[in-house]
Amino acid sequence: MLIRGKCHCGNISFTLTWDPDPKEIPARACDCTFCQKHGGVWTSNPRGALEVRIQEPARVSRYAFGTETAEFLICARCGIVPVVTSRIDERLYAVVSVNAFENVDPALLKRAPISFETEQADTRLARRKRNWIADVAIK
Ligand SMILES: [Zn+2]
Repeated sequence: MLIRGKCHCGNISFTLTWDPDPKEIPARACDCTFCQKHGGVWTSNPRGALEVRIQEPARVSRYAFGTETAEFLICARCGIVPVVTSRIDERLYAVVSVNAFENVDPALLKRAPISFETEQADTRLARRKRNWIADVAIK
């Protein structure tokens, strides 16, 4: 399945290749202090391939907080947050926002709350290496 997503104005868009076609897509409502404020709900497939396209790089705000190991890509024009990246051992990992999906039947989304607030930094990076999309290109 080729999942397409974008911010509201289209400055940040992505395609996520998800093979084989998903029977369900985990949709994790994150309870971190930032995601609470903007309603972040994320998914990833460690065997997926993600291509992110940015039309106007000057209008992308990269926000990090806390351990500063993840970067939220925020469209500075429309305010939507379609992608989070994390660079670990020279590899770029990512998760994408299900709220930014364009062509996915909402019935596929398996929504569940999730909390990483008590997680230690090294556990967090190991989890991302296991679960996040490991094939990421930003163009
Ligand atoms: Zn935008």
